[in-house]
Amino acid sequence: MENQATRAALIPKVYCSIFGHDYHVTKKVTKHVKEYTCRHCGKQLTTTSDGSLVELTPKFKEINLILERIYLAKTKRLKRKTITSSIY
Ligand SMILES: [Zn+2]
Repeated sequence: MENQATRAALIPKVYCSIFGHDYHVTKKVTKHVKEYTCRHCGKQLTTTSDGSLVELTPKFKEINLILERIYLAKTKRLKRKTITSSIY
């Protein structure tokens, strides 16, 4: 079996500039915002609030953490509300 990490290290970043990045979702922040990482060079992208893809900078990582917290709090509240309304 091929080791992903070793393979990524052996293939130069030139690969991506020729064949394009091979992004896969590494984290679901909210329903609409996701983080992506390239399988070959490890470059990270994120969706922004307006739906475009940008490079995942430390600033965006911070924003995503806050977004995730808000999203989780919201979904938790919604679940609690559903349970309460089904009791009464
Ligand atoms: Zn790449």
